[in-house]
Amino acid sequence: MRIVVASGKGGTGKTTIATSLALTAGESVRFMDCDVEAPNAALFLKPQLDTRKEVGIQLPVVNEALCTYCGKCAEVCEFHAIAVIGKKTLVFPELCHCCGSCMLVCPEKAISERLDVMGVLESGMTATGVDFAQGVMNVGEPMAVPIVRELKKWNDMSLRAPAKQSHDEDGRLLRREEHPPRNDIIEIRDAPPGASCPVVETMRGADFVLLVTEPTPFGLHDLKQVIGIASELGIPAGVVINRDGIGDNAVEAYCVEAGLPILLRIPMERRFAEAIASGKTLVEAAPEYRAAFQTLLQDITTRVAA
Ligand code: SF4
Ligand code: SF4
Repeated sequence: MRIVVASGKGGTGKTTIATSLALTAGESVRFMDCDVEAPNAALFLKPQLDTRKEVGIQLPVVNEALCTYCGKCAEVCEFHAIAVIGKKTLVFPELCHCCGSCMLVCPEKAISERLDVMGVLESGMTATGVDFAQGVMNVGEPMAVPIVRELKKWNDMSLRAPAKQSHDEDGRLLRREEHPPRNDIIEIRDAPPGASCPVVETMRGADFVLLVTEPTPFGLHDLKQVIGIASELGIPAGVVINRDGIGDNAVEAYCVEAGLPILLRIPMERRFAEAIASGKTLVEAAPEYRAAFQTLLQDITTRVAA
């Protein structure tokens, strides 16, 4: 089961809810911090990050010695990311969508690909047994989506049991049998703030979206934006009201009108803010909330099954 915790607005307590949900989800839980521009869940869950992988996009590279300047690559590129100007074939990386078409059509096999590193993926276990993974984008990179996409793919691969292989007497590979991803894992994805492409990519393929909001006009505005994405993608959603008691009841009225279930309310309390500021999760600071998070998870499970 894949649960995305999203908020639209930054600073609503999305990571607070996501990390506490992970800590109450039992043993088979995977946490993915998809806020690759500013990942911070590791500060609360404190994993031992012992596995790393560079990640990026494959950009075309032209071998000038083989190129005949025929222009076929420029003709096929919908994004005007490659152009032939006189005796020069130029690639514009910021326009390239890495589709590989130019490489396929080049009659001289003059185009190859190089990895343009945009960041890293990191993973490791926490002391409480949460299997943790995060993407970290390099400063100044313009696109977060490829890193979120790679993080999801990397995660899917590591959730598979190792492939079964059989060899002949000389050690040659006869058969390789891939296993489907395990479906007993609860995967919790902490989404980036906002309602743009990285959030859409984080939600894609999820079973449920948990929307964290606060009862203020700003919270309501951003909740509406992010619920729009979830319904476009056809993913069921529910709401957590954080800092309940501040502001007004417009969020509640909107949820009733839109048929959005309110699954949990966390009141505004100074001790929560102090604990979170010192790197503690909500359920560590207030263990009495463990039961509420377990009920929340059970509720989501029931809704997904239905
Ligand atoms: S298609 Fe190949 S040979 Fe033709 S211009 Fe492009 S890189 Fe050069
Ligand atoms: S990889 Fe695709 S988008 Fe990039 S230059 Fe080639 S054809 Fe254009």
